[in-house]
Amino acid sequence: MPSPSIDRPVDLRSDTVTRPSDAVRAAMAAAEVGDDQYGEDPSVRALEEEVAGLLGHEAAVFVPSGTMGNLTALRALAEPGTEVLAEAHAHIVMYESGGLAALGGVQTRTLPGVRGILDPQEIAAELGDAAFRTVPTRVVAIENTHVRSGGSVWSVAQVAAMRDAVAPAGVALHCDGARLWNAAVATGADLADYGRLCTTLSVCLSKGLGAPVGSLVVTDAERSAPVRLWRKRLGGALRQSGVLAAAGLHVVRHHRERLADDHARAHRLAQALAEAAPDVVDLAQVQTNLVVLRVDDAAALAGKAAEEGVLCGLLGPQTIRLVTHLDVDDAGITHAVDVLTRLLTA
Ligand SMILES: *Cc1c(COP(=O)(O)O)cnc(C)c1O
Repeated sequence: MPSPSIDRPVDLRSDTVTRPSDAVRAAMAAAEVGDDQYGEDPSVRALEEEVAGLLGHEAAVFVPSGTMGNLTALRALAEPGTEVLAEAHAHIVMYESGGLAALGGVQTRTLPGVRGILDPQEIAAELGDAAFRTVPTRVVAIENTHVRSGGSVWSVAQVAAMRDAVAPAGVALHCDGARLWNAAVATGADLADYGRLCTTLSVCLSKGLGAPVGSLVVTDAERSAPVRLWRKRLGGALRQSGVLAAAGLHVVRHHRERLADDHARAHRLAQALAEAAPDVVDLAQVQTNLVVLRVDDAAALAGKAAEEGVLCGLLGPQTIRLVTHLDVDDAGITHAVDVLTRLLTA
C-alpha cells in the first residue's frame, strides 16, 4: 500500500528531531532579552531559577547543549589528572567526542552496569581502595535515563544508594539527566527528590521536551561559579539567549507531563513488535520513550523502513533504536507497527 507518510516520515530516530511548535515559537518571539554575559537576560534568569527550583537546588546555568552541560559540570568537579567513574556505555564515555580528556585532562574509568544501572557496592569498593592507586576519583557519573540500554530508569532509591556509596569517600555524584524528565514521569517521583541527591545534574530541553536548543547544569551556588567559568571558556556564554530560554521555559511548563504519552506509545510499539517477533525486543527494558530492537542487519532494516516512511536510529550493526516524542502521534505508531512487523516477519 503506498504510504502517505513518505512525504512526512514517522521519524523515530531520536527525540531530538522535534521542531518547535507554534506556541514555542510565539514564546520565543515574545521573549524579553538582555545581554546574558552581563547577567541581564531576564528570560535566561527566569529559566535558570525555575529549573533550579524544580530540581531542589540553588542554581542553574543555561548552556547550549547537553554535551557542554556534562563537560562544564564534570570539569567544575574534577581537575586534570583525576578521574570520573562512569558506566561502560555512558553517553559521556561514548558520545561526547572525548571532551573530558581532550579539553579537561580528566580520565574516565568505566564499570559495567546492569541495563545501565551501576551497583553502589561495586562503586563503594572502587572508592574504598583509593590508597592502592594513584589517580584520585573526583566524581561518579550516572545517567538517568540511560540511553544506550534503551531508556532505563534509576529510581530515587537507587540514586540514594549511590549517593550513600560516594559521599563517605568525599566523591561528587553527577547525573547526566538529559532525560531526567522521563525518569520522573516514569517513576512518579518528584524531580527534586532526584536533584537533591546529586552534586550536579545536567538536563536537556531539546530531547523529549521539544525545545529547539538548550540544556542546564543544576547545582549549588558555590559550584555554579566554576560551571559558568567553564561555559565561558568553551565558548558557550551567550548574549540575548533569552529567545532560547523562553522556548525552554515554555516546554518545562507545558511538555513535561505529556511525556507519559510518549512512554505509552513506546510501550504500544514495543508490545506490537514483540507479539510479531518475540526475540527482537526485550519488553522489560522498555521503561520510557525508547525501544531497542536486536536484528540481524540493522542498516538493511532501517533502509527498507525508510522507503516506507519510518525512520529508525542505528545503535550498532545489529541494534536499532526507536524513540517516541512530541512529533509522533498514534497514527504514526500504527504506521510504524505495520511497516516494522511486516519487515521483521518477512
Ligand atoms: C542527548 C544526550 C546528551 C547531550 O546531547 P547534546 O546533543 O549535546 O545536547 C547527554 N546525555 C545523554 C544521555 C543524552 O541522551
